[in-house]
Amino acid sequence: MSPAKPKGPSLATLAIHGGRDQHRAGDPVVEPLVQSVNHLQALGTADGLKYTRYGNTPNAARVQKRLALLDGAEASVVLSSGMGATACAMLALLRPGDHLLSSMYIYGGTHRLFLEEFAEMGIEVTLVDPFDPQAFRKRIRKKTRAIFVESPVNPTCRVIDLRPIAQLTQREGLALVVDSTFASPINLRPIELGADVVIHSATKYLNGHHDVLAGVVSGSRSYIDKVLQKEMLWGQTPDPFALWLLERGMKTLDVRVTRANASAMVIAEWAASRPEFKRVHYPGLAAHEDHTVATETLDGFGGMLALELVGGGKAADRFLRRLRLVTHAPSLGGVDTLVCEPRYTSHAKMTVAERVRIGIPDGFLRLSIGLEDVQDLIADLERALK
Ligand SMILES: *Cc1c(COP(=O)(O)O)cnc(C)c1O
Repeated sequence: MSPAKPKGPSLATLAIHGGRDQHRAGDPVVEPLVQSVNHLQALGTADGLKYTRYGNTPNAARVQKRLALLDGAEASVVLSSGMGATACAMLALLRPGDHLLSSMYIYGGTHRLFLEEFAEMGIEVTLVDPFDPQAFRKRIRKKTRAIFVESPVNPTCRVIDLRPIAQLTQREGLALVVDSTFASPINLRPIELGADVVIHSATKYLNGHHDVLAGVVSGSRSYIDKVLQKEMLWGQTPDPFALWLLERGMKTLDVRVTRANASAMVIAEWAASRPEFKRVHYPGLAAHEDHTVATETLDGFGGMLALELVGGGKAADRFLRRLRLVTHAPSLGGVDTLVCEPRYTSHAKMTVAERVRIGIPDGFLRLSIGLEDVQDLIADLERALK
């Protein structure tokens, strides 16, 4: 797919070694967890003050360097959740009176942050259909500072073409902020396509084991310094143990994502051949509406897919009750294969009609494909259809 790969070591190698100090004889192979909030300080200077909340202690410094290398950014900062990352990333860009253009297809928490919290702070947000090529340009105002998009899109797995949006933001002097949680840096590096800021919920693929809550913001050094100030003063810094677990999880990022990509493709093709599913949403399928954009801009089609059961909500109830291996739980991007129904999770606040309008009818199931044997997963799904 996209031939643009960072020069130097590949992403698989960077995920294991990036940003690490040169090893010397006697060093541990696994970098130690330094579970200390404060660190001894040199006499007679304010320089070099280390404190966990400042995001500069050893476990933070190393994993942040590694993430910047993976995202192809000058710098990264890890925060205590994906929402903490989005909040601090945007607070570093926007002031009261500013205007933000956002894709209408965004994570539920982000939607509320923009329309409830930011509204209270006097930051106005306009939601835009990101698949209408002129929509962003038409809604730019004097006070517009940034465009925010999330791609691939939850839960329909649509893929937004970032290239024309990046051209627009560059021409207009706006920041392009991309939440690419669903792709991880293995499948998509928005900065290569012209984005200024990348956000990840590291809770998902980056950690990948359903046991850490964390978020990442990547961008220019000067911008990340501003995000660090927000992190420090709004208290969004993770604990060293979360950072250590994240570093450990990231070592297998490439194999996990590559495996999930491959298994999701097999499952999507299987599902497309079954009459019980009305629609299969997976950008790797030639029939998917964004297959061309996905082929041009992604290195892998991802481990997320969605299935629409012919029998609607009742069929979904039956199907989910019969699953043994695939686990019914929210969230995504980990080693266990998970299924959830957006009507009871991310889109629970909408009416049935509203959900239908945005392509999420009852009977819509979102799957996050994990690392189990793909034939075992298909056998489980097949049993549940009977
Ligand atoms: C989960 C998620 C978030 C929020 O991340 P948390 O780590 O739960 O705070 C933001 N964006 C996307 C796309 C997500 O999937």
